[in-house]
Amino acid sequence: MTAGNDTHFEEFAPGNGGDILDKVARLEQSLRLRPVKSVEGLCVKLLGAASPRVEVQEHGGERHDVLMLGSNSYLSLTTHPKVVEACKAACDRYGYGMGAVSLYAGTTDLHRQLEQLIAEFYQAEDCIVFPCGYSANIGVISALCGRGDVVINDICNHASIFDGSRLSGADQKVYIHGHMRHLEKQLKAIPETQRGRLIITDGVFSMDGDLAPLDVIIELARAYGARVMIDEAHAAGVVGPTGRGTAEYFGCAGQVDITVGTLSKAPGAIGGYCVGKASLISYLRYYARTYFFSTSIPAPIIAGLIEVFKLMIADQAGRDRLWHNIRYLRDGLQHVGFDTGNSQSAIIPVMIGDERKLADIHNELRHRGVFTNIVTYPAVRRKACRLRLSVMNSLTEADMDEALRVLSEVGREHGIIP
Ligand SMILES: *Cc1c(COP(=O)(O)O)cnc(C)c1O
Repeated sequence: MTAGNDTHFEEFAPGNGGDILDKVARLEQSLRLRPVKSVEGLCVKLLGAASPRVEVQEHGGERHDVLMLGSNSYLSLTTHPKVVEACKAACDRYGYGMGAVSLYAGTTDLHRQLEQLIAEFYQAEDCIVFPCGYSANIGVISALCGRGDVVINDICNHASIFDGSRLSGADQKVYIHGHMRHLEKQLKAIPETQRGRLIITDGVFSMDGDLAPLDVIIELARAYGARVMIDEAHAAGVVGPTGRGTAEYFGCAGQVDITVGTLSKAPGAIGGYCVGKASLISYLRYYARTYFFSTSIPAPIIAGLIEVFKLMIADQAGRDRLWHNIRYLRDGLQHVGFDTGNSQSAIIPVMIGDERKLADIHNELRHRGVFTNIVTYPAVRRKACRLRLSVMNSLTEADMDEALRVLSEVGREHGIIP
C-alpha cells in the first residue's frame, strides 16, 4: 500500500517511519487483522435490553449473531431500564449537550449530584468528574506531579497513566508487574532529597484481570514516604464485598491518597473521576487541564450515571450474579485446560501465545457465534498474546455453556488445549 507523495503526513509519523499507510498495513498484517479491516465496518447492535447477544456486521457486510464476551459493561447497566429512563428525561429537560466547560456553564445540579454520589460510594470527601478516564489520569497526574518529583508505575499500568506521568515532567520509575520487592528496590533508589513520590497502580489490570497487592503497596508507601494513587477503572462496581473496588477488597478503604476511575466500564457510559480529600479536589478543578479546558459530559449521560451509582450501591444481587458468572466461566475454561492466568475479576485472559493462531481463533470464534477481544503486542509480549473475555451478569448458564463448547472446539482444533 502506498500513499505516494500526495500526503504530507509522513513528516509527522512517529519514529521517522516513512509512509504512514505502510505503517497501518504492516500493523494489520502483523496482527493478521484482515477480516475486521476497519472499525467502521464493524457495527455492533444490541438485539434487546440487557441481552448479551448482539449482531455484528463485518467489513463486506456479513452479519453474525454473537454472544458478547467483549463488553466492559459487566453489570449490564448500559441497557438498564431505570438508567435509560433517567437519561431520556434529562435529555428533554437539559438538551443533549452542555456547550461549555464545567467551570463556566457546564455544570448542572445533576453534575454535582453525581460527584457527591461517587464520593459517597468511596466514602471520600469529594469527587471531580472528567470527560473520560483517559483524561482523568492525564489531568490528575500532570496537575499533582512536576519536575523534581518521581512517579513510580507498575509496568502494566494503563497507557493513560504513563502518558500523564510523562507529561508531568516528573522522573519516571517502573516496577515489574505486581512485584513488591522490585517496587521496594525502586523506592530505596530514590535520593533522600526527592520528597515528592507517587506510586501509581491499576486496581484490576486490564490485560490480566489480576489485582494489585494494594495492602503491601500502602505499607511500602508509608515506609518510604510516598503517596499512593489507584486507578479503579475495572474494579469499581465489581471487586470487593460491596463492589467498592480494590481498596475495599484488601480492607484499605480510606488509606489511598488518590483514587481515579472511569465511568465507561461497569458504569457503562463515558467519563472519568477522581476522589479524595476536598482540598485535593478543589485544587484539581483549577489545575487539572483536562478538566479546566474540556467540555463537560452531557446532562443525559450524567442523569443515567446517577441511577447507575444508585444501582451499584443497592443492587447486590446484580453483583452476585456477575460473580457467579465469573466463577462459572473461569472454572469452565480451566476445566477444559485453558490457561487463564491469575484473573481475579470480570476480565478473563485465555492464553494463546501464538499470534497467527490467535487471529484465526478469534475470527473462528466470531463466525461460530462468540465475540471476544484479543490482546497482542505491544500491549503484551508476543508470546503472551491472548483472547480477553469480559463477563457480564446478563449471561445465563446456557449462554456460558455454549461459549465454553465453542471455545473448547476451536481451542482443540488449534492445539491450545488437549
Ligand atoms: C479503560 C481505562 C481507562 C480509560 O478510561 P476511558 O473512560 O475509556 O477513557 C483508564 N484506566 C484504566 C485502568 C482503564 O482500564
